[in-house]
Amino acid sequence: MTQASETGNNASPLRGDAIRAFQKTALPDAAAPESDIKDRTEEETEKYFICAFCAHIITSPDDAIAVDGSVAHTFTNPAGVTFDIGCFREAPGCSTVGEPTAEFTWFPGFMWSYAVCSRCRAHMGWLYRSGASSFYGLILDNLREN
Ligand SMILES: [Zn+2]
Repeated sequence: MTQASETGNNASPLRGDAIRAFQKTALPDAAAPESDIKDRTEEETEKYFICAFCAHIITSPDDAIAVDGSVAHTFTNPAGVTFDIGCFREAPGCSTVGEPTAEFTWFPGFMWSYAVCSRCRAHMGWLYRSGASSFYGLILDNLREN
């Protein structure tokens, strides 16, 4: 009699721990983080860089890329004009103008052509191309964040 009740008292807290441990790992909330991520990305895609002159959407902060170790670069052209530029993998709001050339290129191995706002034709920067790879170097003074 005494032995049986002792066994029962010792066994029940152990069973309780085991059940609680199982419940911790079995919480069925896998769907919640997925919908959170979706909401966040939808908000972030509404951030753009726009043309400083006509507000046309040029590119997005998500398209910024590091080239030669940095997104932002400062260069001076042969005419002595200094530009602060940012590098972007895409600039859907730009049109390119002129034949690509390697003359005075700021990125060795890359040929450049002019990139202009496709709405107001203001100079936005340059498209750099080397074989299959390309990126835009855009003049930061000519861009605004929306
Ligand atoms: Zn424009």
